Amino acid sequence: MKEIRFENVGKSYGKTEVVKNLNLTIKQGERLILLGPSGCGKSTTLRMIAGLEDITSGDLYMNGRRINDIPSGKRDIAMVFQNYALYPHMNVIENITYGLKVQKVPKDEINIRLNAALEMLQLKGYENRLPKDLSGGQRQRVALARAVVKKCDFFLLDEPLSNLDAQLRISARKELVKIHEMYKQTIVYVTHDQIEAMTMGDRIALMDQGQLQMLDTPENVYNRPANIFTAKFIGSPPTNLFDIVYHDGDVIIGQQKFQLNHMWIHYIHQSGVEKFVLGIRPEHIEIYKTPQRQLLTGTVKYVENQGNSYCIYIDLEGEELIVVNKDKNWYPGEKVFIRPMIDHIHLFDQETTNSIGYPKDLTTLKQQVKENNII
Ligand code: ADP
Ligand code: MG
Repeated sequence: MKEIRFENVGKSYGKTEVVKNLNLTIKQGERLILLGPSGCGKSTTLRMIAGLEDITSGDLYMNGRRINDIPSGKRDIAMVFQNYALYPHMNVIENITYGLKVQKVPKDEINIRLNAALEMLQLKGYENRLPKDLSGGQRQRVALARAVVKKCDFFLLDEPLSNLDAQLRISARKELVKIHEMYKQTIVYVTHDQIEAMTMGDRIALMDQGQLQMLDTPENVYNRPANIFTAKFIGSPPTNLFDIVYHDGDVIIGQQKFQLNHMWIHYIHQSGVEKFVLGIRPEHIEIYKTPQRQLLTGTVKYVENQGNSYCIYIDLEGEELIVVNKDKNWYPGEKVFIRPMIDHIHLFDQETTNSIGYPKDLTTLKQQVKENNII
């Protein structure tokens, strides 16, 4: 299997551990996104795969072979760095094909790959320019093209689109996915941008402070965050989080409460957890102007126009709750009535910060609950 496997891998600089006990298998042909805030250890992880950083502890395997001590040049990888470096005295074509010439790839084959790469990265017409006569975005595309023509099993990309303007970033994203569908190399892609991760990833490995927080599909990372960090990091505006008390079927927030359904009650009892954090995304909250059954009451603080929706900041028991809604008519100072959609709430253990609904599948649980006639 052409895969990369981290087994208990750690990386330290002096006494500072920047990657901690990493266990991760990157599967053949997938687009694995390393996502996380700046400084969390993404580049270090990628550079260990590339052989540009020593591994302090644990084992790293490529295609089943331990590669801790294999030099970078002998690993079947192509890499695009965050701070890509082009040869300043070479034009676009020479920069892209230099590596292939060194490898003595036949001329005809070089031309085929070169043309495909120029086409894909919209570099036609710039073939003879030197890097100094290109914009930042164009230079970045040359760096991408240089990696694309290598046709390696493993393609390592470190924030490769960060220098492109917004429009170009979106089209480059699509092009990268397209070319991957064609060649099916294994891609490890580093970004701090959750949109990039959600749109490009087959799976996302979310990191924080050197530790893997969650490894799953974009859908699951969004819908079933494994812990509080994941819930907070994924989604914009972020998930609302409240320390809550659970009592006799009710979630109590300050002086107010709402009722849980049987499924959640069953889950809470099963978890043995006592203190919870409630997570609810801004798009998963109903909001009304008139009181109805089972609603929480809050006061609008301010409203932000997001173009296709409105972001309503609400004071709920002295804490801020963000609601996203299509309607425009919400005004600072007005009293509003809100209801978290019960099928979309998340409950976390205050102590471990882990979700009490993960990794078990909530649908399976619903089934179990039904079969046992708990509902
Ligand atoms: P990311 O790519 O997620 O932004 P990095 O992997 O580059 O993060 O860095 C992770 C941590 O390691 C950061 O705190 C960074 O300051 C530290 N670090 C990176 N390289 C070195 C180095 N050569 N010496 C000491 N610390 C480093
Ligand atoms: Mg980095």
